[in-house]
Amino acid sequence: MSDEDGADADRREYEFRKVLEELEGHRGTGTQLVSIYVPPDMQISDVVDHVRQEQSEASNIKSKDTRTNVRDALASIDARLKYYDNPPENGLVFFSGAVDTGGGQTQMVTEVLENPPQPVQSFRYHCDSDFLLEPLEEMFTDSGLYGLVVLDRREATVGWLKGKRIEAIKNATSLVPGKQRKGGQSAQRFHRLRLEAIDKFYKEVAEMADELFVPHRHDLDGVLVGGPSPTKDEFLDGDYLHHEIADKVIGKFDVSYTDDSGLYELVKKAEAALSDAELMEDKRYMDRFFKELHGEKLATYGFEATRENLIMGSVETLLLSEDIRTDVLIHTCPEGHETFEYVDRGKQGEVATCEQCGESIDQTEREDVIDHLIEIAEQRGTETVFISSDFERGEQLLNAFGGVAGLLRYSTGV
Ligand SMILES: [Zn+2]
Repeated sequence: MSDEDGADADRREYEFRKVLEELEGHRGTGTQLVSIYVPPDMQISDVVDHVRQEQSEASNIKSKDTRTNVRDALASIDARLKYYDNPPENGLVFFSGAVDTGGGQTQMVTEVLENPPQPVQSFRYHCDSDFLLEPLEEMFTDSGLYGLVVLDRREATVGWLKGKRIEAIKNATSLVPGKQRKGGQSAQRFHRLRLEAIDKFYKEVAEMADELFVPHRHDLDGVLVGGPSPTKDEFLDGDYLHHEIADKVIGKFDVSYTDDSGLYELVKKAEAALSDAELMEDKRYMDRFFKELHGEKLATYGFEATRENLIMGSVETLLLSEDIRTDVLIHTCPEGHETFEYVDRGKQGEVATCEQCGESIDQTEREDVIDHLIEIAEQRGTETVFISSDFERGEQLLNAFGGVAGLLRYSTGV
């Protein structure tokens, strides 16, 4: 994956998370919120049939309000389905329904999510007092791709770790003779034949792994190797793997099984290494940020300074905390001065006068801090990186620097 694709994926992931968080807060006054998950291989016409079927069955709903609301939700989804000939690559998810806005009021909400980060696994129709979000949420719990190899001298299995899913792909067994030689064979000859057989098996395992991993080497976040000692060490030290795959090995682990269950054992043992690997890139960015901050000063932080630097085009990399949940209110006075105010997402602001001239504010725009900055970054060709707050410096970015920072191409004195 190139850096650019990575940033786009991060951005998309952020937009999805935002919608998810909004949907999470919604409740229906009755069982009237409809969620539909459409897998990529499903015919849109089948989805339409299902929706119309539900529409006719809705006449059995006793409460008049709920009945009307369910019908409205289904009609809204039916109307959206007209825009699709086929589901996109990763499928579609629809949410629609009248959500409770308090005081006996409801508001109709409809969201269509195209191409979630991982393919929708199966068709789901769900009508309840809240939206069905779990299948989407599961797609976000680390979406990495790791190659898995477990081996001893007798058996090997290769497979994938995709997000949280483990898939065994291929298995091989060897003809390596046991340590006990048969009568009549010289000890030396037996030993040599045994080493040759082991070498041959390692080559076979490496071929199996290369065949699977090499075509995906650019998307691969790492490779884990497991087995008893000294097998896995011999295998890795012997340079059997394709060099680009060998470079991706993030650790070797003691594992006692070498079939499918060995893959599960391997992932469990590698938990710490996996979370480190995921944070590695983020850590490198934050290390560079702190180094610049204390050295050459090619760094900026906080919303306003970073924004100014972005507009000047001096920001090389925009660093945004994944956990910012802040809106910026951009107040403008009649003189055209801008006053910024930060509020929790969706909350009201308090600023009424311009901080420069004291005039009353006559215009206010609300924007998500992240959307606002990314839009400027995209216009200026600045790379954007999302930083996790699951490590110390990532948490500092969020709490001490307002979740916003930048690495600069040159110093601007802002
Ligand atoms: Zn003013």
